[in-house]
Amino acid sequence: MTNPQPGLVRPTVTERDAEQIARSCYGIDATAQELGSNQDRNFLLIESTGARSVLRIDHPVFEDASRDAQHLALDAYADAGIPVARVLAGPDGALTQRWQGLAVRRSEFAAGEPMLDCGYLAPTVIEEFGALAAASVNALATLSHPGLDRAHMWDMRVAHDQVVALASSITDAHLRRYVLDAASEANDLLEPLRQALPVQAIHGDLTDDNVMGVRGEDSRLHPATVLDFGDLSYGWRIAELAVTISSLLHHEPDRPLRVIRAVEAFHRQRSLEIAEARALWPLVVLRSALLVASAHRQLEIDRENAYAESRLAGERAMLEAATAHPPAEVIELVLAALGFQGVPHGAGLKPVAPPAPMDRSIQAPPLRSLIPDLDGGIVTLDPGVESAALHSGFWLEDDAEDRLAAAALADGAAAVVIPYGVFRLTRAEIDTADAARTWPSFTELVVAPGPALRVSIPELQPGPWRVAIDGASNGVLEESDAPRRLRIAILRADAPPGAEQFCFVQPDLVPAWGRFTHDPAAILGLESLTQHDASQDELLRRERIFASAQERYYERPMQIERGWRHHLIDTTARSYVDMVNNVTALGHGHPGVADAVNRQIRILNTNSRFLYRELAEYSERLLALLPDEAREPDAERGALDTVLLVNSGSEAVDLALRLAQAATGRKTVIALREAYHGWTMASDAVTTSAYDNPFALENRPEWIHIADVPNRFRGTYRGDAEEASIGRRYAEDLGADLERLAGSGREVAGFICESVLGNAGGVLLPAGYLVDAYRRVRDAGGLCIADEVQVGFGRLGTSFWGFEQAGVIPDIITIAKPMGNGFPIGGVITSKRVADALATQGQFFASTGGNPLSCRVGLAVLDAMEAEGLQQNARDVGARLKAGFERLADRHPIIGPVHGEGLYLGIELVRDRTTMEPAAAEAAAICERLRELGVIVLTTSERSNVLKIKPPLCLTSASADFVVRQLDRVLTEGW
Ligand code: PMP
Repeated sequence: MTNPQPGLVRPTVTERDAEQIARSCYGIDATAQELGSNQDRNFLLIESTGARSVLRIDHPVFEDASRDAQHLALDAYADAGIPVARVLAGPDGALTQRWQGLAVRRSEFAAGEPMLDCGYLAPTVIEEFGALAAASVNALATLSHPGLDRAHMWDMRVAHDQVVALASSITDAHLRRYVLDAASEANDLLEPLRQALPVQAIHGDLTDDNVMGVRGEDSRLHPATVLDFGDLSYGWRIAELAVTISSLLHHEPDRPLRVIRAVEAFHRQRSLEIAEARALWPLVVLRSALLVASAHRQLEIDRENAYAESRLAGERAMLEAATAHPPAEVIELVLAALGFQGVPHGAGLKPVAPPAPMDRSIQAPPLRSLIPDLDGGIVTLDPGVESAALHSGFWLEDDAEDRLAAAALADGAAAVVIPYGVFRLTRAEIDTADAARTWPSFTELVVAPGPALRVSIPELQPGPWRVAIDGASNGVLEESDAPRRLRIAILRADAPPGAEQFCFVQPDLVPAWGRFTHDPAAILGLESLTQHDASQDELLRRERIFASAQERYYERPMQIERGWRHHLIDTTARSYVDMVNNVTALGHGHPGVADAVNRQIRILNTNSRFLYRELAEYSERLLALLPDEAREPDAERGALDTVLLVNSGSEAVDLALRLAQAATGRKTVIALREAYHGWTMASDAVTTSAYDNPFALENRPEWIHIADVPNRFRGTYRGDAEEASIGRRYAEDLGADLERLAGSGREVAGFICESVLGNAGGVLLPAGYLVDAYRRVRDAGGLCIADEVQVGFGRLGTSFWGFEQAGVIPDIITIAKPMGNGFPIGGVITSKRVADALATQGQFFASTGGNPLSCRVGLAVLDAMEAEGLQQNARDVGARLKAGFERLADRHPIIGPVHGEGLYLGIELVRDRTTMEPAAAEAAAICERLRELGVIVLTTSERSNVLKIKPPLCLTSASADFVVRQLDRVLTEGW
């Protein structure tokens, strides 16, 4: 190897020269546009036919042998199926041409979009980069050629020397120090590994800048064609991955650990050796330091190099991201991700007592070895996600842990143990894009007030572990009249410094800290309660048992085990704002509902054939919610005075259809296109959404007639909300349907629709439609059914019922979802005349429908809705949210119409606002990223391109603003 070549100035070649080269060397007339390069020159050639190719003029330092090796590498890639831009021969057949002594080559133009500027990278895209790096080393594994044996500054084997040599060009002393320190620390970690790292031919610059992306069906940019083999040479195999990974860091610099997905993907295709796994992150740091140092040198000697200038900010972001965590921490994460043991876990530990029995509460005095004079019982607290003690939002209190501990001490415990490794709900934070630090790497003891106590540090066998204690100076727990805290950690010798601070760890760092620390339970004689995120196991377990038709959210779902108000919390105590659960209208974990269940289920729960008070009480309350005119009979319909209770929306719809048929003595039911009404045979018959059932329009039973859906954004007639003519035209079409049906002997029994098109994402019906439609249906002798399962019950804010918005009173109303706040309750409200017709069909009885328990729950829900002003909150926070989304629409063209009212909103995403082409793949990807940022939003509508917003009605303004900010971030940075 010869000496590396730092700081080369690009050869002087202008665009005019490039055009001349194209003519003289390749016989083509083309215009040339310069493309960026640090040390060479690249030009885009465009011929008059539009044909494109790329001209490269190498820096003279490159030898023909290097170029020949590159051509072999291109062949190897192509053989391995990796897309490349082939070198195009000149008229004489040679791949390399000469111009004024410079070596010139022309390559195919790689179609696609640069990956460099595409912002956020989705996990799948990160994995594809890792897989590409593995494909590269696999393709080049057996390549050998003298041209590969060249010395150059980007060879990671000389990276540290290069940083040191180039750093003098960094004028900012602070930055220079930073770069040198980072490089030196990384080099120290690398030093003992150098000899163990395999060497082979590598591309050496497989970065986001040298890979063209193509847009996938999921709307994301995916890495495809590999460019620029200028750094091809022998090098460390692991350097290929390190270079790739460092180039991914600037895409989301505040979350560098996301790139570990690329390491896992690489490892699946090309197993890494343990030395490589350990070397990876130091190399990432070195590469980033080298890029920053080199950019400064390049600008020093080549001030005109706008390319180097423009790259510098990204390169600094890369270095900051690479050094955001102590290298030891990331190395350990990589080892854990790849399944390498590192230091044998638990080596040298000798429990002083056998593990305690499984009883998690009171245990025999186990801490004698630590606090020999401790006298009394020990209680273990559960601060975890499923802790019963933390109900009703108690976990949000700042002093929740102290109060739980104090209560246990007041009950007579001598000390309270808060265990190591249990994700603490008490440490969860709400409305945050980043997961909170919830996992303690230590055991905590809260010791009752009292005299000073000796603390004796337990002895460990010689080995990598040591015990650290916080809270007892000189082996004494000071006398105090307040509870005293003692923290015990078992640390691995090479644990990074944070460990000294007895840290709480963010969930994504737990795989590392679970290895740097050991559960002190083993030496304290306590039961080990350590948790790791087991969501992937839970996913497999579910997939084994569930039918494929049973839907599940998210590509890699989190495991949710706690809800409170409009927040859901996963097993790592990471919180999410729940923007989709319209069933828990009061919010998750509502104490009023919990108390009602708890009380009633202990007293009585029987069936509605018995006489008990609750059924009538609840039914009367429901009827009282109707508008006054609904409770009065009019010329066309009877008073809505009868309630039938069932257990779900599907049952309610099913029953409503039977009622309509029984009361009219007819069969035919009209349903709108693109609707969802339930899964039972009858409610499914009126479910016409092709999204839920692709065969919906073909296989309706003969008693169903499907009418056009009056969607003024996408339907047959489109236009402004106030345009009465649109509603009229849809209603006229419905009238024509009714006439045709009558003409063919299919007299109509009923007409069912949602009062706001819920399944479409909250699209409000065109003005006048429902009044007109109901009149025509009634004139034809049919009954009008309003499905209020989604949009009723206060959600719209300005009115309790959806049908009130349209100015109609239905004959039959179906309700369900929010009635029980998650407890299964459904119901039908209608007139006595319609209800009594059911008798012609035999008895009606639902074993659990309307039982005392569900009625009590229903009453508790209505009480809470009133007491907490939830309908008003839906109106106010809903308006704030909608205004926020509409403001985003000013800046983000992907947002089309924002539908809905109150807390039933839909953000329709479109690729083009004029054609309204649905952005369905984008919508799905946006939901995935929002979840990473702590927001649960999912898609709805026939085209799956509407973000549905139907949170618990207790949503706060703070959470609403948080959600708008996160959506803004996703739409700005990408998905
Ligand atoms: N009607 C409508 C409008 C609905 O949205 C749903 C459920 N999404 C149902 C009926 C069926 O309700 P359930 O899931 O409780 O059976």
